[in-house]
Amino acid sequence: MRDTLVLNASFEPLSTVTLNRAVVLVLQDKAVVEQSHPELRMRGAAVDIPAPRVIRLCRYVRVPFRRQAPWSRRGVLVRDRHRCAYCGRRATTVDHVVPRSQGGQDTWLNTVASCAQDNHRKANRTPEEAGMPLLRLPFEPSPADAMLLSLGNEDFGALPEWLAQPAA
Ligand SMILES: [Zn+2]
Repeated sequence: MRDTLVLNASFEPLSTVTLNRAVVLVLQDKAVVEQSHPELRMRGAAVDIPAPRVIRLCRYVRVPFRRQAPWSRRGVLVRDRHRCAYCGRRATTVDHVVPRSQGGQDTWLNTVASCAQDNHRKANRTPEEAGMPLLRLPFEPSPADAMLLSLGNEDFGALPEWLAQPAA
């Protein structure tokens, strides 16, 4: 199921909606299409338009609170660009810095991308206990990155700059 990224009139990422909802917003002149799926079209009785990938609201909407990026294994791999936090090689697994057996949680700050070998070698130990220092510290993705993650987009660099930047 594909979702469409919704930007505020100020170009700030707001949320995602279903494709159908996005098309309705565009047809009602509540939003304009900023980017569409190249080979996907929405066809209906009175409509045949490219499926919107990113839409922008015509009117500015006030956002009362900042949305947190939901944690996910895939998100951790994307955040770390599929590089192992211990050796820098290609990572396919997610390691808990403080192991779950020691109370470590599924959070952005306690998880890093790891190659299968290092994940296995570190086992149920902290980096200190295992003598495996982190090459870089885990961080919380920006809300804008979180929106892209929820869109399933893994290549932040291919998107326009305003999409790859954290919301102000
Ligand atoms: Zn590794």
